[in-house]
Amino acid sequence: MHTTPGTTVLAPAAGATPHTSTAPIAAQDVRKAYQAGKETVEILHGVSLQVQEQEIVAVMGPSGSGKSTLLYCLAGLELPSDGFVAIGGRPLASLSRADLARMRRAELGFVFQSYNLIPTLTATENVELPYTLGGKRPPAELIRDTLAAVGLTDRAQARPPSMSGGEQQRVALARVLAQQPRVIFADEPTGALDTRTGELVLAELVRSAHTPGRCVLVVTHDPKVAAACDRVLFMRDGLLVDELRGASVGRVAATLAGLSTQQGA
Ligand code: ADP
Ligand code: MG
Repeated sequence: MHTTPGTTVLAPAAGATPHTSTAPIAAQDVRKAYQAGKETVEILHGVSLQVQEQEIVAVMGPSGSGKSTLLYCLAGLELPSDGFVAIGGRPLASLSRADLARMRRAELGFVFQSYNLIPTLTATENVELPYTLGGKRPPAELIRDTLAAVGLTDRAQARPPSMSGGEQQRVALARVLAQQPRVIFADEPTGALDTRTGELVLAELVRSAHTPGRCVLVVTHDPKVAAACDRVLFMRDGLLVDELRGASVGRVAATLAGLSTQQGA
């Protein structure tokens, strides 16, 4: 999708439909509805996007606009009610449950709002866990470097109950980064962090995204985080309504504020 800043995103450019795309993340007309009693409530009303290799893309929008739901659908954690999602050129709908699980383990990383750390394990052991569970020997140097990159060298032997929310969030992020996944989905990865550690985490996500063969999609409320991304997609009421490329913090903040005042109008 190639749009100029400020234009409305309706559909991918011709010739770049996800059906033929090898983009790491490709979605076409994704809809998601939930059953609420007898009523069906549609949350996503047809979302189309692509994230290219070596790209970090932010998703912003008012609370309740469907950002997390979109992330779950793209990451294969929720099944879209309609539409098409492909990761690395492979349509998720064509994968068996086992193949989807295998792909998620091998190629995708999730940084979600719940950290899912094991309280009895140290920070290092938590970061090692995906290796240990997979029967692999954890790469000690990579684990150490990753903890250092998110500012946790001093807390490597600490256990989650003795850590602040921000420290736990960074352990969860380090656990994902140490897997070196091709695609990272992050939902508010700096939500619990102060300015300095937030910048560390953001720098690591950008670094991962700009590595050949990789990309990152990040949901954020923070215009500073979004402005550090290559592109920002704006969501309102279950639709992508705007896109900025290379925008300043001020421009991102103003666009977001514009969405909030229009919400429900
Ligand atoms: P955001 O992340 O932008 O704040 P969400 O994707 O979490 O928004 O939620 C969008 C809307 O979908 C909200 O109104 C929320 O209540 C609703 N929603 C999310 N998950 C479910 C679910 N499992 N069942 C029913 N409604 C849901
Ligand atoms: Mg959310």
